[in-house]
Amino acid sequence: NLVFVAKETVADETRVAASVETVKKMKGLGFDIVVEAGAGAPSRIRDGEYEASGARIGSVQDAAQADVILKVRRPTADEIAGYKSGAIVIAIMDPYGNEAALVNMARAGLTSFAMELMPRITRAQSMDVLSSQANLAGYQAVIEAAAVYDRALPMMMTAAGTVPAAKVFIMGAGVAGLQAIATARRLGAQVSATDVRPAAKEQVASLGAKFVAVEDEEFKAAETAGGYAKEMSKNYQAKQAALVAEHISKQDIVITTALIPGRPAPRLVSREMLKAMRSGAVAVDLAVERGGNIEGVQFGTVAHVEGVKVVGYPNMAGRIPASASALYAKNLVTFLETMVDKDTRSLGLNRADELIKATMLTDGGEVVHPNFVDPDQ
Ligand code: NAD
Repeated sequence: NLVFVAKETVADETRVAASVETVKKMKGLGFDIVVEAGAGAPSRIRDGEYEASGARIGSVQDAAQADVILKVRRPTADEIAGYKSGAIVIAIMDPYGNEAALVNMARAGLTSFAMELMPRITRAQSMDVLSSQANLAGYQAVIEAAAVYDRALPMMMTAAGTVPAAKVFIMGAGVAGLQAIATARRLGAQVSATDVRPAAKEQVASLGAKFVAVEDEEFKAAETAGGYAKEMSKNYQAKQAALVAEHISKQDIVITTALIPGRPAPRLVSREMLKAMRSGAVAVDLAVERGGNIEGVQFGTVAHVEGVKVVGYPNMAGRIPASASALYAKNLVTFLETMVDKDTRSLGLNRADELIKATMLTDGGEVVHPNFVDPDQ
């Protein structure tokens, strides 16, 4: 069986879907591997390194023979046209709101998988791209904030005077938020955090940060069975906003990471809140690709909103591509391994497997995932 590792075509996608390590692993699983020339360059993996680990370097035309196509982003219409019917495509598919693209993949006869729909169960932890990428994004958000902040983060007591510690507030204490807390703490900042899930309180405290939230009855019931946030009531949002507004006015850096699966990102920081921050304050919006948590955030740049530098970089993990690719590629190969029969070393999908069921978007010419099946068809 042939695996094709594509060079990403979406602008600014720096990651790649295979590493030297995962090419070796796939060889061991019995695959032949073709890596599109230059695919690893933005992640600092040379073609020669892939070759030395057992891959052949090819061109986009090689995708036509592939049984498995590994990508970072959902294939474009042009890319899809180059794949054979029946091929397996695995990527971060960003399926919500992109139903038409899913229909295109179905019509092309592709069996496609969205890595971000991987269930968050113990067995699938090593395939969890949301976690592997969010963890790096949380780290990088603090680094980007520090880079545009005009002051130092740690307290410094010097002969020339004392520099106070920066106050950093993290909104949303999931995987990204918790890593942001840890990173800001390592840089010596004074860190606080908020979340709508009660379980986050203890995790925030265990990292040495202060937890700030309205802890009413709704808050205590705010977690879904899957461990995700629910959309909160208008009443709760208003109470939380008042508390947050007070808190934010004393902060130097705010990092927002709040997401609700399948919904637009909740708006957490208003212009008024930014206005109340001190001059030169920084806000980083990790939810910018899903509409943003911060009012006035601009996709792809640092916007100056009410005197605050609002960082709106998408694909934050992609800003440390070598690390992001290494972890993403490992997630992919671990999932691919579940599709291989160990004895015959051949590809065989077990459509009853819960990981396959949870992530499969299209198969046999149809959109098959229950969240995206068109009820009118
Ligand atoms: P996410 O990216 O979906 O959201 C980020 C955070 O934003 C979440 O903590 C969420 O509660 C929070 N949020 C949403 N609305 C908010 C609001 N209005 N105000 C403040 N915060 C808000 O979350 P995630 O990082 O993917 O983590 C989701 C959950 O999954 C967590 O409980 C995490 O511990 C859990 N998880 C489990 C596993 C596993 O068991 N394998 C792996 C990773 C994550």
